[in-house]
This record gives sequence, C-alpha cells and structure tokens, in this order.
Amino acid sequence: MLEIKNLMVFYENAIAINNVNMRCKEGVITGVFGANSAGKSTLMYTISGIILDMKKKEKMRGGERITVLGSITYDGSDILNMKPSERAKKGIILCPERRRIFPESTTLENLKIGGYLATRAQAKKTMEYVFAIFPALRELKGREGGFLSGGEQQMLAIGRALMAQPKLLLLDEPLLGLSPKIEAILARTVKDINRETGITILITEQYARPILPIIDYAYVLENGGAVLEGTSQELMENPDVKSAYFGL
Ligand code: ATP
Repeated sequence: MLEIKNLMVFYENAIAINNVNMRCKEGVITGVFGANSAGKSTLMYTISGIILDMKKKEKMRGGERITVLGSITYDGSDILNMKPSERAKKGIILCPERRRIFPESTTLENLKIGGYLATRAQAKKTMEYVFAIFPALRELKGREGGFLSGGEQQMLAIGRALMAQPKLLLLDEPLLGLSPKIEAILARTVKDINRETGITILITEQYARPILPIIDYAYVLENGGAVLEGTSQELMENPDVKSAYFGL
C-alpha cells in the first residue's frame, strides 16, 4: 500500500534521509528502529507531507533549505508532492512524536478536533471505540490535555489520530518517555487496533524490545539510511541489532 523508493531528504547540506527504500504492507504493523537523529521523524514528516509545510514556511521566511527527492507511492499514486491535508483525506494520519496534545482543550475536545475529517456517525462510532480501548480516557473526558499524565496523553494522541479515520496510521515514537508498564499496555493496544480495525500501521521507536512482539516487519535506520530489514525474528537473531537496539 505504501512504497518508498530512493527517498532522500536534505536540511540544507545535511542529509537526513539517505536513499531509503521501504514498504508498508497493507493490514500489518511495520516498524522503524533508529537512535536519536537517525531520521525517524523526518521520515514520518515526509510520508505525511508535513515536510512540505515546513518547506513552505521556510520559503516565506526567505530561505528554502529542505529538499525531498525520490518517490512515495500510496495505493498506486505518487504522493510525494501532495499536500498533507490531501494525504490525510486519503487516510494517511500522523500521530506525532511528543504527542502534541492541545493542552488547554479537554480530552473530549482533543478527540473532537481529531474527528474533523469524519462524518458525525463515524466520529460517534470511533469515539466509542477509543473509550473502549482506553477506558481511562472516558473517565478523563473533561480534563484538560495539559493535566493528563504522559501515558494518558499518548492514549489521547492515538485516540485523536483514530478519530481522523486513518487507513495508514503513522506512530512516531509513541512509547517515548513512558514507564515499562505503560509501554507494554500501549504496545498491546496498538496491536489490538491493528487486529480489530485492519488499519495499516507504521511505528518508529528508538528501542525495538517493547514493540518487537507486535511488528510484522521492520527496518533499521542509521544516519538516515535503512541499513537492515527483516521480520522481528530475523532482526532479533542479528547480533549487531541485538546489542544496539534490544539492549541485550
Ligand atoms: P529523535 O529520536 O531525536 O526524534 P529522529 O530519528 O526522529 O531523532 P530526525 O528528527 O528526523 O531524527 O533528525 C534527522 C537529522 O536531521 C538529525 O541530524 C537532525 O539534527 C536533522 N534535522 C531534523 N530536523 C531538522 C530541521 N528542521 N532543520 C535542520 N536539521 C534538522
């Protein structure tokens, strides 16, 4: 459903994504592992199209430093130059790193904002689903986003992304800064979402261990390049991957 070919992204002269080839198969969870600065967020901005907005902003300020080359095909059409709002309409929805919850809006308002692309019936149905998978959010409906814990904010960020009716859900480091217990709950819920809704998921993480049980296939990013790929089993058996990404 998503195919990335020879993707290159430069910030000025610095290369952030270096000739990446990648595929997300429909209906499964694909992982991307990489250390800080490996290029995970840049990859997500490029797939969701946010990078084009960043580029536009820079142009308005009088300079343009971002260059994107290569191709990204989604359901058969090249989306590399498609606006992020058009991609969202096609079902490509980003749940960004560090959650980006609206801190002064309540849980319920955050979810409703996420549902701006949905019909009233879809929004109602999805909100019930979000409360079913994250019962804590139902109890916190009226609380402002800024007063939620890190784990609750991440649940809300995923819930808000689901409200946008994704077909391809991009989760950028959803486990960042959370306790091992919350990590495990969230990882399991991501798997449940995939199984119950059939939504295709691309998930990035610095460490492979917490998401290894839920992924189908994964890529390892180093300095912007996809240096390794394989099933979770194949990656786990690789000694370099073991020491660098599994903390073994
Ligand atoms: P992290 O885990 O820290 O979020 P990451 O894997 O998501 O890292 P990116 O944020 O994509 O990595 O960064 C990739 C490279 O691009 C880094 O060297 C970073 O410094 C650089 N970079 C990212 N955003 C910009 C920007 N707006 N301008 C210039 N350089 C940038």
